[in-house]
Amino acid sequence: MSEDLFLKIIDREIPAEIVYEDEDVLAFNDINAQAPLHVLIIPKKHIRTLNDITDEDEILVGKLLNVARKIAREKGVADDGFRVVMNCNEGAGQTVFHIHLHLLGGRTLSWPPG
Ligand code: AMP
Repeated sequence: MSEDLFLKIIDREIPAEIVYEDEDVLAFNDINAQAPLHVLIIPKKHIRTLNDITDEDEILVGKLLNVARKIAREKGVADDGFRVVMNCNEGAGQTVFHIHLHLLGGRTLSWPPG
């Protein structure tokens, strides 16, 4: 059993509502949704935080954004607008230490975030 919660979701050791999967990326609904659409988009490769990405991860990290674009279009929020967020370390609110892109949409999103 992995200690990384999101690796457990990748390995199907714990359930999730999966909305997208390919060889590099998995996307699933956030269990504590902060908007009508709240999807987490993660690399299958374990990377703890944004501080830990390397130059060789450049394409993989870009792919997270491209998957966000596709899901936003498919879920009907692309034209009204959506937000993507990555929290890095505790000070920014990161609670799961496997990098993930939050895709939020389906309501008006205020700025700045808290
Ligand atoms: P962060 O605070 O940026 O690290 O985001 C972690 C996110 O993971 C939070 O929005 C949680 O609601 C979400 N989360 C935690 N456990 C699960 C789970 N088992 N399935 C889906 N989302 C989860």
